Amino acid sequence: MRQQIVAGNWKMNTTIAEGVALAKAVVEKVENPRGKVVFGAPATHLDAVSRTIAGNQHFGLAGQNCHQEEKGAYTGEISADMLLSAGADYVILGHSERRQYFKEDNAMLAKKVNLALSKGLKPIFCCGEPLNIREKGSHVAYVSRQLKASLYHLTEEQFRQIAIAYEPIWAIGTGKTASSAQAQDMHLAIRKAVSRKYGKKVANATTILYGGSCNAANAAELFSQPDVDGGLIGGASLKADDFVTIINALK
Ligand code: PEP
Repeated sequence: MRQQIVAGNWKMNTTIAEGVALAKAVVEKVENPRGKVVFGAPATHLDAVSRTIAGNQHFGLAGQNCHQEEKGAYTGEISADMLLSAGADYVILGHSERRQYFKEDNAMLAKKVNLALSKGLKPIFCCGEPLNIREKGSHVAYVSRQLKASLYHLTEEQFRQIAIAYEPIWAIGTGKTASSAQAQDMHLAIRKAVSRKYGKKVANATTILYGGSCNAANAAELFSQPDVDGGLIGGASLKADDFVTIINALK
C-alpha cells in the first residue's frame, strides 16, 4: 500500500515556543499512526521542532518553501540546505499562497522541485484550481497542466520522491470543503495523468493528499476515498486535538 501522510501547514502562525508546544502535544497523543505525520513549521521553528520529534519514525518535518537557487544574494530567502540543516526532510512547494502572493509560476516551481530533490528533500507539491476554473469545468485540464509543467521533466526515480497535494483554491481557508466525491474525482484524474506519464506502477505508488478546509469533522469521509492518501491541513493543524483526530482518520 502506498504511504499515507497527514501534513500540517502552520503557515505564518505560532512563535517557536507555541510551535514546539503544539508539536509536543501531537507527538504525545499519537502512538501508531497509519501514515506519516509531517509538521510544516515556519523556518525559524524547524530546528526546535526537529528536536521534539527526533528518533520518532512516525514524524517528519517540512519547510513551507525553499528557493530555487542553491545559495547566494537572495536576501530573506531560505535554501534547501538551510532546511535540511534545521532538520527538515520535506518541503511544501507550490502552495497556492506562494503562487498568488509571491508570483511563483510553474517554471519556477520546476526549478524548486529540482533543487529540493537534488538535496534529498521530499517535495509535497501543491496543485489546484481557482473557483472560476472549477465553475467552467476545466479543473482537470488546469491541474494536469500544473503537474506537467513542474514535474513531468523528472525521471521516474525522482518522481517517486514526490507527494502531490491537491488543494482547490476555493476550499483553502474558506471553510468550504470539496465534497469527498469531488476530491475522489480529481485524485483519480491526477492518478490517471501520472499513469499516462510514468506508468501504472508509479501512479499507484504516488501519494496524493487532499487540502482545503479539511478538519476533524470531515477528514474521515475524505480519507475514506480510495485515491485520497491523507491530507495537507492548514487551520486545523494548529489545534493539537483536531490535528490528532485528523491523523487518526487515516484509513
Ligand atoms: C492549506 O493552506 O494548505 C490548507 C489546506 O489550509 P486550510 O486547511 O486552512 O484550508
